Amino acid sequence: MPRPEITLRFILWRTGLIQGLCAALFCAAFLVSACGCDTLNQHQFVIRTEPATIEADTAVIADILCDEAEARGLVDGTADAQLPTCICYYLEPVKYFPLTLGARTAEGSLVVDLYHFHPGPGSTFKYIAIKRHLASRLRVAFAERLRVPRWKEFVGFPESRNMDGYGLTNKPPWDGICEVHHVAMSVQEVDCQQGASVYLPDYGAVLHDQFPHHGRAHFAEDRGYLYARHIRIYVCPDCTKAYDEWWNAHPVNSTPPGD
Ligand SMILES: [Zn+2]
Repeated sequence: MPRPEITLRFILWRTGLIQGLCAALFCAAFLVSACGCDTLNQHQFVIRTEPATIEADTAVIADILCDEAEARGLVDGTADAQLPTCICYYLEPVKYFPLTLGARTAEGSLVVDLYHFHPGPGSTFKYIAIKRHLASRLRVAFAERLRVPRWKEFVGFPESRNMDGYGLTNKPPWDGICEVHHVAMSVQEVDCQQGASVYLPDYGAVLHDQFPHHGRAHFAEDRGYLYARHIRIYVCPDCTKAYDEWWNAHPVNSTPPGD
């Protein structure tokens, strides 16, 4: 006669309860790990070129990216990109975690960079659609001259600029006028420190509405960087004044960036 515990284990196994429990635990662990992480989506297309064709190739790539940006609602940030080899640069017009699409010259090649860092799992529909559509159009345009490297073989940037490499430091508005105070801004270099305003909820709640272009120290992640000691940004004198007044009126336990 079998021992009772063996019989019980046998019955549980046969009825699928153990398998079900294991599957449920696995799914729970997967969901926690997937939903609790930020995701970095990055994709490159590399086109082999040479001096005789680089001008024509550049024009073709610029046209393809311009079409894609228009179709997907990206805005043109080329004028604000700090990368000297930038051909064109587009980004989503959102405050946080914009998808970006850029092209540049690099070591006898032309490189197209698709980038999206966001606080969720996987890839967004927009990212997947752009990736597929670009792959199709670039394949038609460049055939065997097109290469899609694995991330370990990505063509790097000459120096680290910001998270997507193009070094955009000027966020909207693009006309240099503060959208809160409606005064002209000037480009200045200000201090920057690691972190994000979302971890100072009171400050983060008013930053973008009351003094988005202040000239004091900024958090790096608010400006699209992971790490940066200094950034060049548009500074509004009225935002700086409002920023100082807000911190004087809120002597909370937290200290402002840079202190
Ligand atoms: Zn302002």
